[in-house]
Amino acid sequence: MNMLIKNGTVVIGDSLERADIYVEGSKIVKIGKDIDCAADKIIDADGKIVLPGFVDMHCHLREPGQEYKEDIKSGTAAALRGGFTSVACMPNTNPPLDNAALIKYVCTRATEVDNAKVFPIGCVTKGQQGKEITEMGFMKEAGAVAFSDDGRPVENANIMRLALEYAASHDALIISHCEDKELAAGGVVNEGLNATISGLRGITRASEECMVSRDILIAESLNAKIHIAHVSTKGSVELVRQAKARGVKVTCETCPHYFSATDDEILNYNTNAKINPPLRTQQDVEAIIEGLKDGTIDAIATDHAPHHADEKNLEFNLAPFGTAGFETAFSLAYTYLVEPDYIDLVKLSKLMSSNPAKILGIGSGTLKEGERADITVVDPDKSYIFDSSKSVSKGKNSLFGGWKLRGAVTAVIVDGIEKEIKSYD
Ligand SMILES: [Zn+2]
Repeated sequence: MNMLIKNGTVVIGDSLERADIYVEGSKIVKIGKDIDCAADKIIDADGKIVLPGFVDMHCHLREPGQEYKEDIKSGTAAALRGGFTSVACMPNTNPPLDNAALIKYVCTRATEVDNAKVFPIGCVTKGQQGKEITEMGFMKEAGAVAFSDDGRPVENANIMRLALEYAASHDALIISHCEDKELAAGGVVNEGLNATISGLRGITRASEECMVSRDILIAESLNAKIHIAHVSTKGSVELVRQAKARGVKVTCETCPHYFSATDDEILNYNTNAKINPPLRTQQDVEAIIEGLKDGTIDAIATDHAPHHADEKNLEFNLAPFGTAGFETAFSLAYTYLVEPDYIDLVKLSKLMSSNPAKILGIGSGTLKEGERADITVVDPDKSYIFDSSKSVSKGKNSLFGGWKLRGAVTAVIVDGIEKEIKSYD
């Protein structure tokens, strides 16, 4: 099979150029102007932007154990619709991915369903219980690309220290879900005016920032690398900025909901706005955008957290945390970051493809001759209203249902094969 993507505006390294891409088998063979050759398949990308396939370094696919929320097949189909050619899934499944056999299971199942590529993240501690460190070496050999107890923090600081040390000896990455559960004190929304107005229990931002601070300091003391998940506060951005300035090997991600929404969303008790860490304030949104602009924040990850409608259809205090995120991530980034001119498409591509690929060590994330042909084509002029009932994901719990968004994914190519994706109309 060979394929020609013609007339697109292509993100090539640090520039945006009009070019064609010729793909043979699973590889990009040539990128250049006016490539003229026969191809089994031609994609006309006139008026479209051609980017490296997006890489999501933080999502929840729920398999094994919670297939009523999502499974590897439905989750990766939703990922494709969002333009993601690779996703890294968190291990808080049931049972948690805390051994090599379960890591292999996820990899095998992902190969069978053949949608987006899946890179499993293994647990830091057995059963995510925070007590005994997992056999990261075996899990890495089986295909784990990083380690995290995401969904919950590693509460014991010494366990985190030992885990960072152990991970470093395997050149493995620890991803920290930064939350001090004692400080969070059972809260459900950001602590502040809107918590008071709504009568919902607030979570102090110190719950996130104390842990960001702790984990940076532990990593620094070991000269180990660490990645901070879903940064949501102004204070966390500043902590990471300062740490980077003094040479700590820290990277971090944020999610689309932290630069496109505030805790105003909870005022009507919409449980899809119940997210952990919680939606913050306009000041935090501005700080997140500043962090994305100046390179403090390395990646945009979805934290795609699908839930069953029956679970979200409860009173606010009882509903689970999380919003579905795959299908709207690019459009939110385009609408809230590129359109207002905070960042350009080259920078967006770094945040959504090459940086997460680099942090996870999974290669590619760029469009280059000789690289695997993981490619996403988007229409920057297309506006649409997101209808979450038509989500490909089993999780219809999107915060963004009914939102008017701009920039739609129109074609996705994984390893040289064009995948079928549902249109937005
Ligand atoms: Zn988390």
